[in-house]
Amino acid sequence: MSAEKIDNSRRAMRWGLTCEKGECVERTSKNGKEVIETCKFKPTIKQVEENTQDPQSCHYYLQKYEALVAKHSLWNYHAFFQIMKFNKKLFEDYLDRKVSVFDEAHKIEDQIIQFVGFDIFAGQVDECNLNPDRYDFTDLDSMISLTDDIAYSYAKKIKDIKESPGFENDPDYELITRLERRYDRAAQAKIDISSDKNNFVVNDPVRDLNGNFRTISVKPIDVSKFANEFFDTEYQIFMSATIDKQSFCENMGLKKDEVAFVDTPKSPFALKNRNVDLLNIRRLSYGSTEEDELEVIRTIDRILDEHSDKRGLILTSSIPRCQKILRYLSPKNTRRIRICHSKNKDGKTQDEVISEHASDPTGVLLSSSLWEGVDLKDDLSRFQIIAKVPYPNYKEKRIKAKMDKFPLWYTSQTLTKLLQGFGRSIRSEDDWARTYVLDAAANNVFFKAQQMIPKSYYDVLGMDE
Ligand code: SF4
Repeated sequence: MSAEKIDNSRRAMRWGLTCEKGECVERTSKNGKEVIETCKFKPTIKQVEENTQDPQSCHYYLQKYEALVAKHSLWNYHAFFQIMKFNKKLFEDYLDRKVSVFDEAHKIEDQIIQFVGFDIFAGQVDECNLNPDRYDFTDLDSMISLTDDIAYSYAKKIKDIKESPGFENDPDYELITRLERRYDRAAQAKIDISSDKNNFVVNDPVRDLNGNFRTISVKPIDVSKFANEFFDTEYQIFMSATIDKQSFCENMGLKKDEVAFVDTPKSPFALKNRNVDLLNIRRLSYGSTEEDELEVIRTIDRILDEHSDKRGLILTSSIPRCQKILRYLSPKNTRRIRICHSKNKDGKTQDEVISEHASDPTGVLLSSSLWEGVDLKDDLSRFQIIAKVPYPNYKEKRIKAKMDKFPLWYTSQTLTKLLQGFGRSIRSEDDWARTYVLDAAANNVFFKAQQMIPKSYYDVLGMDE
């Protein structure tokens, strides 16, 4: 085994040089005794703190420990929340900071939700010799039983392996560690869920083409009870251009009178560079007709003709809607379109599609997922068309349950996504793009969400201050 620095992770995986299957800390047996063995490349945090680490040390841990010992450090949400959830005690000396800054704060709930609740996979059910047909995948109590049966099955496996004659002669500690981890997760999830049943919801199971169960998740409706374990410093600064105080505090479990809210009165970008046309073509909702949809698509076609020499972006609410738009555009405009999602049919990544778009002078991206987190600066997009208001998908059970319990949350999620969409193509002071909103339902969102609209959007929305 050797340590190498590889920039291209795909190549590294082909060479078997990543640690996907590796264990940083392993339990093994020496002379019949259980010993804990640490990967020889793993530095200690003390070494990093005292700058005595081996330069050949594992890059992952070097980065992580350097960040922990540094005065200021920058983390992605997943890495930081992982520590806050599982290793707070271990690193408490290094987590004692006065201030933490959370960027893109409108997305924090999506990050927290990954660390609470329970995901059950077909492989796990199989490994535990359980019959999925015995459970009702729409019922919370049945899912609690399944979680309990999974925990019981892992406990029994661990006991049987440890008591087997084979284990005495040739113990497989790696297997035991893996099973114990799975047991802990299932047992903890069972306690969490059954102690607060009203706050958990079972999402619809994902099935394969033959209808066989693949995966299911049990998630909390209200994450506010779990949020404070991630926010530990004396002061927190949450940054976003699209949050409002009331729904953010409610959602994150923050006391309103302990929160100071800074609502920047004016956007730093000139109005003429980020104009929004609310065209109110038709209201697209479940009651809208085929003719309504076609009229919106005809308008997209006209706007594409008006910007025939520019790159642009079309945002809508779902993949089937993307396909429908593509089907009805004129052949000339169809040729300009690239459908772009995080995963694409032809296996291309989002970045690959965007870089193809960058080399097509009149290319247009069509997507239901580029509402946030994409940076189409300057000539990469000079016009953007919002074809349909991006409501959260209330067919998802958690969303529906949360919407019923917190109507404010549903409106604020829709508004946030819509306003995030406005910003995709205007990325700096000198950048400019024209935005067209076609779905007349946008007006209802702005009306309902009046109190939540950040002041810096008042000018583009023609709202009186
Ligand atoms: S310590 Fe680093 S090199 Fe060693 S197994 Fe873990 S990730 Fe891999």
